[in-house]
Amino acid sequence: MAIAAKFPICLLALLTFASLVDSVFSTSVPTISASPAVLPYVNAPNMSSFFPAPKTMPLNPAVSPSLQAVSPIPSSGEFVGRSWSSAVKLQSGTAISDLWLHVLIVFLSALAAIGSKPFKNTTHSSNPNLATLFNKYVDKTNVFSWNSVIAELARSGDSVEALRAFSSMRKLSLTPNRSTFPCAVKSCSALFDLHSGRQAHQQALIFGYESDLFVSSALIDMYSKCGHLDDARQLFDEIPQRNVVSWTSMITGYVQNGEALEALLLFKGFLIEETENEDVYIDSVAMVSVLSACSRVSRKGVTRGVHGFVIKRGFEGDTGVGNTLMDAYAKCSEIGVSRKVFDGITGKDVISWNSVISVCSQNGMSAEALELFHDMVRDGAVAYNAVTLSSVLLACAHSGALQVGKSIHNQVIKMGLEDDVYMGTSVIDMYCKCGRVRAARRAFGRMKEKNVKTWTAMVAGYGMHGHAREALEVFYDMNQAGVKPNYITFVSVLAACSHAGLLDEGWSWFQAMEHKFNIEPGVEHYGCMVDLLGRAGLLNKAYDLIKDMKVRPDFVIWGSLLAACRMHKNVELGEICARKLFELDPSNCGYYVLLSNIYADAGRWEDVERMRIYMKSHGLVKPPGFSLVELKGGVHVFLVGDTEHPQHEKIYAYLEMLSVKLQEAGYMPNMTSVLHDVDEEEKGMTLRVHSEKLAVAFGVMNSAPGTTIQVIKNLRICGDCHTMIKLMAKIVDREIVVRDSKRFHHFKDGLCSCGDYW
Ligand SMILES: [Zn+2]
Ligand SMILES: [Zn+2]
Repeated sequence: MAIAAKFPICLLALLTFASLVDSVFSTSVPTISASPAVLPYVNAPNMSSFFPAPKTMPLNPAVSPSLQAVSPIPSSGEFVGRSWSSAVKLQSGTAISDLWLHVLIVFLSALAAIGSKPFKNTTHSSNPNLATLFNKYVDKTNVFSWNSVIAELARSGDSVEALRAFSSMRKLSLTPNRSTFPCAVKSCSALFDLHSGRQAHQQALIFGYESDLFVSSALIDMYSKCGHLDDARQLFDEIPQRNVVSWTSMITGYVQNGEALEALLLFKGFLIEETENEDVYIDSVAMVSVLSACSRVSRKGVTRGVHGFVIKRGFEGDTGVGNTLMDAYAKCSEIGVSRKVFDGITGKDVISWNSVISVCSQNGMSAEALELFHDMVRDGAVAYNAVTLSSVLLACAHSGALQVGKSIHNQVIKMGLEDDVYMGTSVIDMYCKCGRVRAARRAFGRMKEKNVKTWTAMVAGYGMHGHAREALEVFYDMNQAGVKPNYITFVSVLAACSHAGLLDEGWSWFQAMEHKFNIEPGVEHYGCMVDLLGRAGLLNKAYDLIKDMKVRPDFVIWGSLLAACRMHKNVELGEICARKLFELDPSNCGYYVLLSNIYADAGRWEDVERMRIYMKSHGLVKPPGFSLVELKGGVHVFLVGDTEHPQHEKIYAYLEMLSVKLQEAGYMPNMTSVLHDVDEEEKGMTLRVHSEKLAVAFGVMNSAPGTTIQVIKNLRICGDCHTMIKLMAKIVDREIVVRDSKRFHHFKDGLCSCGDYW
């Protein structure tokens, strides 16, 4: 279908080309002034309606009159004797006009666009007209003609045809020259075709072009891309006079094969040769290669050192260098410096913007990512693309910025990107994480193509909202559709079972994963199972599972069991878990607090006191909890006991007023959630100002009655906040959605979707 549609356009391009050739040869100097019209004419989508074109049919009226003058389209018979090589000869003659370049490019890209037809069977094309035209216009005895054809095919990405043309040329016993090899070798690289690459290398050797700098650099690149670094290095070492291209090819080769340290060692050699040989100098392209090695090594010191060199040589403002430098800093977690590098790039391109936005999105700096996106739109110098929108959607997902997410989704639809499977998956993920699982499902339903990530995003989405049945249904449909689940899919399936307490389903999928799908369970899968068993009260079974693990249990697994021990008041096992956790993650204060709470529940106050003293003497501080709430497109952040927010006084007053109603509804603050180091009255205060309470109150105060309040918390919601928000939802008659570090809680009418099971 696609080829059929292309044919008439290409054929017309050939004919137009032929007409121009005709005019050019009829007068000694090309005089057609309408040359720019040729390109839009060829690309016009409505050209297919011209096929089959009657001989007398006028050309597109939109085309300028001087071009129309060449119609009616001449029959192929008129071109006899006018060969394309004459055109090439004209090119290599005295003056070559832009028109000629245009014409050549149009002709060659028309050939390339036809697909493989004319070259595949040079003399047996299924379309006799095309074969005739091709045979007429390419002078097969001229090596320059072949070079141009090979180069153009390679450049347009049709490497298979470029290699076929190369081999056809060799079959005609034509002697290749130094321009023939680089393009032929590059086509081998593009296809990762080592066999053809070696053949091309041999021929270069036979014709004496092996040490030609362009040929050898292309060969180094080919061997590296095919994973044969030793051959590449041998060739590199044998080059008598290396230049910047040879050095860059070799450094890039090391980077591509994951040998970034070798690449950096070679860079040292490059610097030495630069001081000794004045023909060798480091340029910005070489710098990009070196910096991508820094990205892979991700060591602060190394990146800083190379950055110093970049400044010294004045490459700082270069867009390519800046983009790679940003990435190198981001990879060694120097987000601030990465941002500064971005600010310093003078000609920011779409890659610069995409990198900075994605660095922020991926490092939890959602507000910055969204702000940068606004800057990009306001700046207007660079148009955003699918990659940008994906990063912005990720930032929306992390910060729960539903309104911004929705507007990005609209933009995705407007730009016709909704069918893109990666984009669609980002949209689903955004809606799920912003609490709109139904909107996610609608977007999911509209997607024509779904890959394993798409299905997994939907399974995970249902799971985090506690809709385990729906998650398992989607998982079932995924299997029916013949999409093979992967490691992450099973994490999502087991997490869904764990969120809903589906013990039997969880077990059976955990077994099936290994035995039916050949996926070895990893820590994440064990984590879900321990959580599932632990919360169901099967503490010993969970402990046995940990002991049987083929991989080393991590702090998440012991943490789940410790939390289960608190829930089911098992001091003995709790102590075992805590001991493991203190070894694995000694600076995390959360475990000390959990163990302390287990002791408190058991009334072991001496142990509670012991924990308190230990924590104090080791300077362990609880990580600050914070909550986010989106309001009119802006994201508001609240810390525990926040006094920074402009409305904080109003919020506290509102909560004070509400507490009376809450107590009437039977609310009793749950004191055991707090470390027993404050007196009762103060404890009441501390609980009240948990960040999620502030965020919920702020949301209720500032939004229209009936609207849903959505809050995101960085830690797990505590029992007291959970109880209070349930009652609050009833008193203020609102739906309140809280996403904590584990899952979603939908509070409505005094109940929560998790069924108090989280
Ligand atoms: Zn709380
Ligand atoms: Zn809940």
